Amino acid sequence: MKDDVTPKHADDVIARDKRHVWHPYTQHGTEAEPTVIARAKGASLFDTDGRKILDMISSWWTCTHGHSHPKINAAIARQAETLEHVMFGGFTHAPAVSVAEKLAALLPGDLNRVFFSDDGSTSVEAALKIAYQSWVNRGETGRQTLVSFDGGYHGDTLGAMSVGRSSQMFGAFKDLMCQVCVLPYPATFEGDNAADEREASALSAFEALIAERRQSIAALIIEPLMQGSAGIRFCRPSFLKRLVEMAQSAGVIVIFDEVATGFGRTGSMFALEQADVVPDLVCLSKGLTAGYMPLAATVARDSLFDMFLGDSFDLALSHGHSFTGNPLGCAVALAALDLYEEEQTMDRIAQINARHRAMLDALHTRPDVTRPRVLGPVLALEVEDGGQYQSEASRKLRAWYLANGFNIRPIGSTVYLMPPYCITDEELSRAYAGMIEGLDQLASGAL
Ligand code: PLP
Repeated sequence: MKDDVTPKHADDVIARDKRHVWHPYTQHGTEAEPTVIARAKGASLFDTDGRKILDMISSWWTCTHGHSHPKINAAIARQAETLEHVMFGGFTHAPAVSVAEKLAALLPGDLNRVFFSDDGSTSVEAALKIAYQSWVNRGETGRQTLVSFDGGYHGDTLGAMSVGRSSQMFGAFKDLMCQVCVLPYPATFEGDNAADEREASALSAFEALIAERRQSIAALIIEPLMQGSAGIRFCRPSFLKRLVEMAQSAGVIVIFDEVATGFGRTGSMFALEQADVVPDLVCLSKGLTAGYMPLAATVARDSLFDMFLGDSFDLALSHGHSFTGNPLGCAVALAALDLYEEEQTMDRIAQINARHRAMLDALHTRPDVTRPRVLGPVLALEVEDGGQYQSEASRKLRAWYLANGFNIRPIGSTVYLMPPYCITDEELSRAYAGMIEGLDQLASGAL
């Protein structure tokens, strides 16, 4: 390919990277050299030697329809010819309005008002600020407590870190965080006999919190059905439903962080559909642009938006970003949303789910694997107990998988597959075989 860089260039890129680039979640003192990716197509990344790496975690869960999709590529090119960007205060444009309309149509109830931002963290930050200020606008300034779940992760900005304080990622910042009460999360898996008990205890902890601090709680935030960064931990729709009912009847604003779960990742377009609830705010990003561009949306119910109306600017939401509603991102989002119908993506997700389910039997028989589980197009399992994000086993496995052509990045003890939906049956078979071989290597002590 014309735009492939040769291995000689790859060495050059790495040398320059080492000198000037600071990578996310990376201990530069110990980390191996990064892999230089030259191009990507479908479910595959290609390094500078043309070596194929199956992207089995969808590049941090962003890539939905596949890399370098011709329809999305064309949409960006078309949009770039007409309007690449304009500030969104005092201006608007058709791509942003159309995305807002489409999201409102896809989401239930009166989730009709779309606030654009840049990424998952900013969508959460905006949601927390909307929730808090809606109380301030009503004259209730004492609602300073946020409620989140054990292991929950919502991004790396200060508010998002605060509600993700139990995720073990943010120890250095704990003294800067806002007030958060953390509830137990009833993680469940196939064949779990204690799910009812765990859910009851989480709900009774919430009930006790409401009884004690109802007037000081601003909002509750949860990753619906799947906690991602905590290790792909699932909860049941029935739990979510009960939780939302309890929160809303106590007047607590409910935020669903669907940054990772949105756009098909749990088997339905949004996780909230499975619980049949209407949260007050929904955070979206990642799959919104099929993993192409940083764009996010915080979608609010009409009733919440109305609390910001009035004559005084003090009531307005004082929040925005240079790239709010970026037209290129919105054009990509529109193309990405259209593809769900054009390519019958939800059917493909159901097929991936069926293939994953067929794998569960094989996993159940392995003595080195616990808690195998499947949700929509996601398969996860545990290989050891209590591993941290950067555990020794997870680093060894990640390195082995990469060396063998798979982007599979365990989170501590959790090994998981979350492929782009365009993945072929043959690629899936290859990924299963690769995943199992990596587990065999680990179990035999060969790594
Ligand atoms: N919320 C959830 C549930 C996430 O999984 C993530 C990222 O993985 C975020 C928020 C933060 O998104 P971003 O990394 O785009 O800021």
